[in-house]
Amino acid sequence: MATVEQLPQAHNGVAHAGEEIPVENPATGEIVGTVPDLGAAAVAEMARRARAAQPAWEAYGFDGRGRILSRAQKWLMDNSERVIATIVSETGKTFEDASLAEIGYAANAFGFWASHAPDYLADERVKSGQILVTGKRLILRYRPLGLIGVIGPWNYPLTNSFGDCIPALAAGNSVILKPSEVTPLTSLLMAEGLRECGLPDDVLQIATGRGETGAALVEEVDMIMFTGSTRTGRKVAESAARRLIPASLELGGKDPMIVLSDADLERAANFATYYSMQNAGQTCISIERVYVEEPVYDEFVAKVSDKVRALRVGAPQGPGSVEVGAITFPPQLETIEAHVADAVDRGARVLTGGHAVQPAGGGRFYEPTVLVDVDHTMACMTEETFGPTLPIMRVADAEEAVRLANDSPYGLGASVFTRDTERGEQLARRIEAGAANVNDALINYTVLELPMGGAKASGLGSRHGAGGIRKYTSQQAIVVTPRLALKREPHMYPYKRRTTRMLAGLFKFLYGRGKRD
Ligand code: NDP
Repeated sequence: MATVEQLPQAHNGVAHAGEEIPVENPATGEIVGTVPDLGAAAVAEMARRARAAQPAWEAYGFDGRGRILSRAQKWLMDNSERVIATIVSETGKTFEDASLAEIGYAANAFGFWASHAPDYLADERVKSGQILVTGKRLILRYRPLGLIGVIGPWNYPLTNSFGDCIPALAAGNSVILKPSEVTPLTSLLMAEGLRECGLPDDVLQIATGRGETGAALVEEVDMIMFTGSTRTGRKVAESAARRLIPASLELGGKDPMIVLSDADLERAANFATYYSMQNAGQTCISIERVYVEEPVYDEFVAKVSDKVRALRVGAPQGPGSVEVGAITFPPQLETIEAHVADAVDRGARVLTGGHAVQPAGGGRFYEPTVLVDVDHTMACMTEETFGPTLPIMRVADAEEAVRLANDSPYGLGASVFTRDTERGEQLARRIEAGAANVNDALINYTVLELPMGGAKASGLGSRHGAGGIRKYTSQQAIVVTPRLALKREPHMYPYKRRTTRMLAGLFKFLYGRGKRD
């Protein structure tokens, strides 16, 4: 297992005066490493170094940068066991959750951004009907912003913290990543890997620390990419607004799943089970609530309850040992318990699960839980639970399901299950969410060609697709006038009655022909 002691270059020698933060394995309670708690002065020093390193990195060009990112893809494959062990040690998630949703994502992302950055950020030749630019060369150029700050959450230290650094680097920026204080080790290991692959010093630095370190980072950078809770996202957006820097925010969610009576119930039940419990429910786009049409409600509930009851929960002992791992962040366990208790108080029934599991030797877990007889007076249907719970609600029809799906401040993802895919697509279009899958869930996240972002309180901007890398650039308009041009253009001084009339006549000719309807 990698600990920070094995990563001595992690901060490129930036001095820090703060305390050390212990990193705990949430599945065992064991302390697996410590990292420095960097203060504002250390972050400012990192920013100074990052700015000094950026022009040379930009000068590598797409080919040079792409070569290093492609090498990093191979490095990740060569070191996947070590990276998985580090992720598992600081999150308590299962080997499968670390392998599929973290290694699989990052390996794909290295190759994707290495090969797509040149296309998404290529100069665009623009054509214009504007008469004043006739004969001139018009170019839209995407220019790296300079220094990007990435702040990430604890649930996917590789995918959601480190993952956003990849397109920012591919665009020619230097990056400072502030991982969650709960899960910093994976980011440190990845920075070591990138150095091994030839990334120049100071182009990527890891600023370990708590919330204050994140707040200090926002004060230093040219753009902030934030993933985390809606509450912290608002604070980051306020600071970014004060500094007039762009902010891209990937925030919380309460993703609904709709099951219509013509759905393939076996598939729908498998998806509801997997995508609510995967990563112990600690996924921003996990299925957090289900609405099932009356005629198939009982059968669907029975299928899901059986499948959830069969899941093994506990400390991962290697591949295939358990399906549901630990609750990574201690306060999250209290939120999950509070949502289940609130639901039961208001009349919900627990069909399976419903208890926290805290072994005497250490670690914290929550039993995979199915709740029924739920409604929108309950926190489990309206607030982000972020745990292995699945509330299922009976609805009269698809109209009621869509109305309830949209009865949420959030709008990250959604899914609709029906054999009538055309109707499914029409319903998906009516759901207020950044992504909606028909007969699937979450799969949009793996498609790096598609934008992934939240509607409503789930975020601003998006990752992936052209927008997912252009946000790390500013657009520059370039107009080139050919060498053989007039010494003086007709609209210039001195103003003369004749030319003014001539220009007015020209405007009339261009824009005033035809009749108003
Ligand atoms: P938080 O908002 O608590 O923290 C996110 C990051 O922000 C952490 O690194 C945290 O540091 C840091 N931070 C805390 N305070 C500040 C501040 N004032 N200024 C700048 N940074 C600060 O989120 P969680 O870590 O609890 O992550 C879970 C949340 O993330 C869930 O709501 C989940 O839905 C969301 N999420 C969204 C995703 C998406 O793509 N939309 C993907 C994954 C998760 P520290 O941890 O050290 O306090």
